[in-house]
Amino acid sequence: MNVFFKVPLRGIRLLSCVVAIAILLCTSCENEKISSDESTAQQELNVVASKLQAAGFDTSEGFQKYENGYLVEYDIFLTPEMINELAESATTPANGRTEHYRSNNLVVATPRTLQVYIDAGFGTYMQNSFDAALARYNAQGLGLTFQRASSSASADISIFSFYEVSNVLGYSAGFPTNGNPASPIRLNTYYYNNTSTRPDATTVIAHEIGHAIGFRHTDYMNRTFSCGSGGNEGDAGVGANYIPGTPTGPSAGSWMLACSSNTDRPFTSDDVTALTTVYPNRTIPAGTSPVYRYYSGSSGDHFYTTNWGELGSGKDGYVLEGITLYANTSQASGTVPVYRYYSGSSSDHFYTTNWGELGAGGSGYTYEGVAFYAFTSQVSGTVPVYRYYSGSSGDHFYTTNWGELGAGGSGYTYEGIGFYGYP
Ligand SMILES: [Zn+2]
Repeated sequence: MNVFFKVPLRGIRLLSCVVAIAILLCTSCENEKISSDESTAQQELNVVASKLQAAGFDTSEGFQKYENGYLVEYDIFLTPEMINELAESATTPANGRTEHYRSNNLVVATPRTLQVYIDAGFGTYMQNSFDAALARYNAQGLGLTFQRASSSASADISIFSFYEVSNVLGYSAGFPTNGNPASPIRLNTYYYNNTSTRPDATTVIAHEIGHAIGFRHTDYMNRTFSCGSGGNEGDAGVGANYIPGTPTGPSAGSWMLACSSNTDRPFTSDDVTALTTVYPNRTIPAGTSPVYRYYSGSSGDHFYTTNWGELGSGKDGYVLEGITLYANTSQASGTVPVYRYYSGSSSDHFYTTNWGELGAGGSGYTYEGVAFYAFTSQVSGTVPVYRYYSGSSGDHFYTTNWGELGAGGSGYTYEGIGFYGYP
């Protein structure tokens, strides 16, 4: 319990996915959420709840059917498709460990500029709060830059209104999918309207954008910290990855606390650490391209390519998981080819700098050509790419993040450093 954030009426909760910011008017709100009898609707809800649990969410509170999807953790709106994707990606090696937490899903930043639109119906105070929220992000020099869009059609994230007499301030549309931010965000005009000058407006907009780009609540492990009540939102390690360098307990004043105190909360130094760790600004080394990482749960295959045209933001059952490294697309001094192979029988893509392993093909693997060029020893600015193999799923897996599997796990055996590339 932290008296500092305690507000009249028990606290204002920031709803994120459908990003709702809820004001908890009473504890009985929670009791009425799942109260129907053992109907098919209830059974359906149970099935969804078990998928969410598999993805690391706590559904014991703040979970309900909402419009054409579900609200989890009060302010995160997820469609059935998103829930299926989250449940599926939860069965793959974690995307990394990033008192700040992020979901498994992030925006693919190369770096990248995101266009953000806010409904013109919002008055001057809200328009200015919107600009202030974007400026707050842009002041951090992140790999993501935010720019005001003139229409929702050209926007990566749109902010629309809704009206509801409830404890919901606003909500986000969940977490990133296919490397893109979640959209839209909706703000409740019961709180944010032409005459409203709520002090938390900038923070609430920044908070919902935070969810849209993959951040979870800072007090994820104990919502009581900002809300005055509530428990742990779910299992850390799958859907909530700790961000290195941030404190391991609740982070006072964070923009990603679950509940609003109706005060402005600019980024704290811990917030800045979280943002710059997850979305570092980078200068891409000359001659290199991102190596995109994909995963197909159905065939149990990790796939890596510098060619966006092959799978784009994901297709044929493959989900875009992010950028593993930056690699040369033609042979540069000190680099060697990384040969790419595919085995149809075990649905496995395999990459090696050692021609001697499979040569022109063998053991069921077909040679597919040079994937990209990499280093066989560490040169300045490069990092090791760790290689793993799972015999049970017939999958080779490559990552620069030792935290994902370390010396092995989840059925994967560590096979050593495959090569070196730019992070
Ligand atoms: Zn939230």
